[in-house]
Amino acid sequence: MAVAQLKRGEHHRTASGHPWVYRTEILGINGRYEPGDVVDVVDFRGRFLGKGYVNPASQITIRMLTRRDERVDESFLRRRLEAACEYRRRTLDSRKSYRLVFGEADFLPGLIVDKFEDCLVVQTLALGIDRWKGVIASILEELVRPAGIYERNDAPVRDLEGLERRTGFLAGSFDTRIVIGENGLRFVVDVENGQKTGHFLDQVENRRAIVGLASGRRVLDCFCYTGGFAVHAAAGGAREVEGIDVSEWAVGVARENARLNGVGDICRFVAGNAFDELRARERSGERYDMIVLDPPAFAKSRASLEDAVRGYKEINLRAIRLLNPGGILVSCSCSRHLTEDLFFAVVQDALLDSGRAGRVVEKRTQGRDHPYLVVAPEGYYLKCLILEID
Ligand code: SAH
Repeated sequence: MAVAQLKRGEHHRTASGHPWVYRTEILGINGRYEPGDVVDVVDFRGRFLGKGYVNPASQITIRMLTRRDERVDESFLRRRLEAACEYRRRTLDSRKSYRLVFGEADFLPGLIVDKFEDCLVVQTLALGIDRWKGVIASILEELVRPAGIYERNDAPVRDLEGLERRTGFLAGSFDTRIVIGENGLRFVVDVENGQKTGHFLDQVENRRAIVGLASGRRVLDCFCYTGGFAVHAAAGGAREVEGIDVSEWAVGVARENARLNGVGDICRFVAGNAFDELRARERSGERYDMIVLDPPAFAKSRASLEDAVRGYKEINLRAIRLLNPGGILVSCSCSRHLTEDLFFAVVQDALLDSGRAGRVVEKRTQGRDHPYLVVAPEGYYLKCLILEID
């Protein structure tokens, strides 16, 4: 097995259990290896730090799989996958749909597995884990006994790893339009045509949190996708709910989800750009009692942070202006480059510009099925601020 030696003084993060070894930290890799192979990682003095898989084409050249001197084989993967299942059993009560494997946080870098009722959707986003795809699928079949396993490997990050994009069944089969239960409601999840794996499971608890706050209110759900927050608000007794998403397709599924839950007459969905739609509503003097902002990650990288901050500020400011006194703002950011402090500052800034006061009702985050390692706080990406606006 090849051995990757880190530069002098560059071992601290890896020694502490951080799963990413950057190219700039590596002195050299001794021995023969193919991209995707597992290598030993040692510090400058040769002290063993763990094992990880290597991809010289990636800035994150090694992703650590273990800090122990153990074999990385089928039985290793089975132990990891069993532990991931067990963690969800302990933390999620009796939910049937959740993220079953969340990459680094489950000590399986690059692997995502979402469970929608008895269907599994898998993404292998790095070369080193992609190679094990078949083995992982057969272990999952054994552990979970799903109807089937569908691969959504069309994520652009695969390009960076030199991996082709592909989708389709790895095992079994099922109707790719699944109806899942969520907080006592029902949602269509289209694992073939939906975004990412089809449904945003990281917001399940946050959608639940707005139910009790929505009663009697006029609600606007911006970036509504398939209507997750909108339908929860309607089920919570909202007077009227409007959802906006730029995707015509998502808006169609949102309408279907509203009907499925008996709130089709309370909800209205529009396909449009949320920035324009917010501006138009401001101009026409519309007012709301609750506004949800759940945009895609505006900051995809550290370099685009400045533009992202401007974007977050704009939608928050416009939303605040549209709220009646006592209105609720549910403001989310799923960009890991925008830290919690910076996000809070952006919302503060928007409040300042609006001349309104806001108080924090609740600070929320990604669900329990999306944990993150204490040593790798970049795994903490989802912020969800619930504010009351004076
Ligand atoms: N709130 C949703 C998830 C939102 S994901 C839920 O709970 O399921 C972000 C959504 O923003 C995507 O559906 C995407 O289509 C949409 N989107 C991206 N840019 C947009 C824009 N400029 N205006 C409106 N929607 C946009």
